[in-house]
Amino acid sequence: KESKDPRAPLTLPPGFTADKYEEFITAAQQIVEEKNVTVITDAAQLIHEHYTDPSKAHDMHNVVEKTYFVASAVLSPRDVKDVQEIMRLCNEFEMPVWPFSIGRNTGYGGAAPRVPGSVALDLGKNMNRILEVNVEGAFALVEPGVTFFDLHEYLVKNNLRDQLWVDVPDVGGGSIIGNAVERGVGYTPYGDHWMMHCGMEVVLPSGELIRTGMGALPDPSRPHADGLRPDQVPGNRAWQLFNYGFGPYNDGIFSQSNLGIVTKMGIWLMPNPGGYQAYLITLPRDEDLHTALEIIRPLRLQMVLQNVPTLRHILLDAAVSGNKKSYSDKDEPLNDEELDAIAKKLKLGRWNFYGAVYGPEPVRNVLWSVIKDAFMKIPGAKCILPEETQDHPVLQTRSGTLQGIPSLDELAWVNWMPNGAHLFFSPIAKITGDDGMLQYSMTKRRCKEAGIDFIGTFTIGMREMHHIVCIVFDRYNKEKRDRAHWLIRTLIQDAAENGWGEYRTHLALMDQIADTYSFNDNAQRKLNETIKNALDPKGILAPGKNGVWPSNYDRDAWRI
Ligand code: ADP
Repeated sequence: KESKDPRAPLTLPPGFTADKYEEFITAAQQIVEEKNVTVITDAAQLIHEHYTDPSKAHDMHNVVEKTYFVASAVLSPRDVKDVQEIMRLCNEFEMPVWPFSIGRNTGYGGAAPRVPGSVALDLGKNMNRILEVNVEGAFALVEPGVTFFDLHEYLVKNNLRDQLWVDVPDVGGGSIIGNAVERGVGYTPYGDHWMMHCGMEVVLPSGELIRTGMGALPDPSRPHADGLRPDQVPGNRAWQLFNYGFGPYNDGIFSQSNLGIVTKMGIWLMPNPGGYQAYLITLPRDEDLHTALEIIRPLRLQMVLQNVPTLRHILLDAAVSGNKKSYSDKDEPLNDEELDAIAKKLKLGRWNFYGAVYGPEPVRNVLWSVIKDAFMKIPGAKCILPEETQDHPVLQTRSGTLQGIPSLDELAWVNWMPNGAHLFFSPIAKITGDDGMLQYSMTKRRCKEAGIDFIGTFTIGMREMHHIVCIVFDRYNKEKRDRAHWLIRTLIQDAAENGWGEYRTHLALMDQIADTYSFNDNAQRKLNETIKNALDPKGILAPGKNGVWPSNYDRDAWRI
């Protein structure tokens, strides 16, 4: 566009002129230094499309036009003081600001903001210190830029792996803070990352700094020099040991929320259990899902299943080993015979259960014999240990993941389709055969209607399961993108009609899902809005995140 000022961003934030925007950027440069400010002036800057080199300004797995969910500029604060000053500046200008830690939130929007033209706050670039690893208390205190790989490598380098493990998600390049605040999961007994976080330091929308839990209590016994800023003062020595402190428990309002920017967080580490054995149990038939879930529920509740195990559909494992073309020339979804042929070729079942037992050998032996006996009641079920096979690459990867060793192997399934991108549809369900089968058959039918292969897994939590459906599509093909978008919208609606809701979602679906949590005339939404308006009267911090809009935005006007 000839008339466009070359310094102006590709997308201006709502309510901004190019002049007012420039004034903001000049002031922001004074806070964080010029080298930490990048204005996105051109779509040609949106070239980062891979997990190993993620975009800081747009959604690499775009399901709507790539230039829609895009930041106007990326600011990288150097420290907590910068974050506070940026928040004050954003209040002054009424600038929407979208914080992220690393930007590898793939399938849920990556680093992209909900409101186009928001300023992205790249917390991880400069704020990436492991502040403490405490062996006695088995915890770490980290900044936003610390990834699962970073913490794991720290444990290895400091010879601490024989004492402590860090729980990791499927791929380990994301931020520990980013993943925990979004309530992501891993697969050891410490798989629920939000449950295992302990103590936070948060910058409020006003720029004020708080510490939650025991962190609110000054600890004169900890040595520190006078004249430190509040964010530099050592925390209370029970900050990472006791979550709740005194009075209302605040941490929840900073999870999947737009009420604060987390600048430090404690995470519990798993003491090395003194022994470990991963395993795979293959189940041959589609309907074995029902029996398997009935077996899993009591074992998980009793903690015979000690970790977060997963029950994976054959195509998820198949897609880690090769793209669709390597199995079939078909474009439409594969049928039962084709799935059976793939399972046979890969020596897997229609469903594949990956778990592990932890502890000294006698403990493991008892647990394993109970687990094995229970599953062997399913005709055709087979047990495979990683040491006994060269043929099961996913088992080798899971054997690492389930003991807290991060990897990138599971990135491969996104290449199932050419130019592969993905969206996650992630409903919660009871761990029962009936719920699992119903959710699976509903999802499978809709996938077929959309012309998309069902690729999914059931991740077993303490009392429920996250059903993670990986909707893979060609990001350069608008028709295929639209089909993926139709599919997830339809699934969200189908799920709500069955009383199922999702635990997390992509930017484009946040409003739809928030609407489904509608008990008593949307009373929960009204509470969230009341808190939002009180803490962020100018509505600057991540407006619209998870369907919570401040009063200066018209939620209906922003629907996708
Ligand atoms: P990942 O760890 O997967 O790379 P991101 O850094 O992309 O995750 O963060 C995912 C989402 O979590 C962000 O879009 C943002 O909404 C939220 N988030 C991440 N880090 C913070 C933080 N430090 N404070 C507040 N919210 C955060």
